[in-house]
Amino acid sequence: MKAEAAIFYGSRDLRIEDLEVPDPGSCEVLVKVKACGLCGSDIQRILNEKLEIGKPVGGHEVVGEVFRVGGGVEDISEGDRVAVAHRVPCFKCHYCSRGDEGQCELYRRVGVYPGGFSEYMWVSSHNVVKGIFKIPSGVSFEAASFTEPVADCLKALRRAKLRWGDSVLIIGGGALGLLHLQIARVLGADKVMLSDHHENRIKLAYKLGADIAFDSRLQDTRRTVLPETANKGVDVAVIAAPSREAFTQALGSVRRGGRILLFAGFQHSTIRELNFDPSIFSRDEIWFIGSYCYSPADFGEALNLISKGKVKVEELITHKFPLREMSKAVEESRNKDEYLKSVIIP
Ligand SMILES: [Zn+2]
Ligand SMILES: [Zn+2]
Repeated sequence: MKAEAAIFYGSRDLRIEDLEVPDPGSCEVLVKVKACGLCGSDIQRILNEKLEIGKPVGGHEVVGEVFRVGGGVEDISEGDRVAVAHRVPCFKCHYCSRGDEGQCELYRRVGVYPGGFSEYMWVSSHNVVKGIFKIPSGVSFEAASFTEPVADCLKALRRAKLRWGDSVLIIGGGALGLLHLQIARVLGADKVMLSDHHENRIKLAYKLGADIAFDSRLQDTRRTVLPETANKGVDVAVIAAPSREAFTQALGSVRRGGRILLFAGFQHSTIRELNFDPSIFSRDEIWFIGSYCYSPADFGEALNLISKGKVKVEELITHKFPLREMSKAVEESRNKDEYLKSVIIP
């Protein structure tokens, strides 16, 4: 069937065009998209023109209503409110059997088309079986669209081996930094601190439960963190802003033997600016940990955390746009004094 979808023609030229979306075949589903979060990675891909001209923009933080179901689909009916995982691993390859689902070949392929920046979205049979989660009643579509980013943060903080009683510094108070803050708390962190450059984000960090939130341009990060951690430094530093300055803050504030979680996606040009003494790996036993997307198990748990109010997501939505104003959403994201997160509603 035909659906209106956002098509990429340039960093300032997203057009809404009719796109052919497949009807659901055997064990497949067609979802009417109700909301899709605009991820920082979407914005980066659009602004850096990392998408193909004339191809759909995508959108992976997607929720909607089941519109049509193919034959053989069990437990899912038309009208169900669902969050859809765009990637689902095979659960049986070498990577999957060792808990590295993020590296599974099937996981690397996206099992939906064309993504959430579209009126309708086709879901493959594999994603139908393991990647569709019913949204509890009482949770709005907009809130449920945070399932994917919450699941990402859950996986990342688990990979960073966040433990009960840990002290955590989150560097970067964008939407993902503010999710990390709340999830670190859920996972048992004792002291949670956050640094940023924008007053609105610092205020919100306090509202969402930070022990200390500060402007790292006005206040030295290391000097702020040390007295809070018996002069040792934090157990876990989360880099949630892809800048050299964030990297430097992490190195300066993590304790010996601590973990640095590289959550933000660094640009190649920034990577070249990073320099550090490699003896931090040997002498100081500092761990560097990266993370890619979510594990399927995190998806259901993320939805649960949102529905129980343990992770507050609606406070993070600063903008809502209809699909035809997606370019405006990308433009607004530059204004960091006001922008945190936009949700696109087709
Ligand atoms: Zn994302
Ligand atoms: Zn696999």
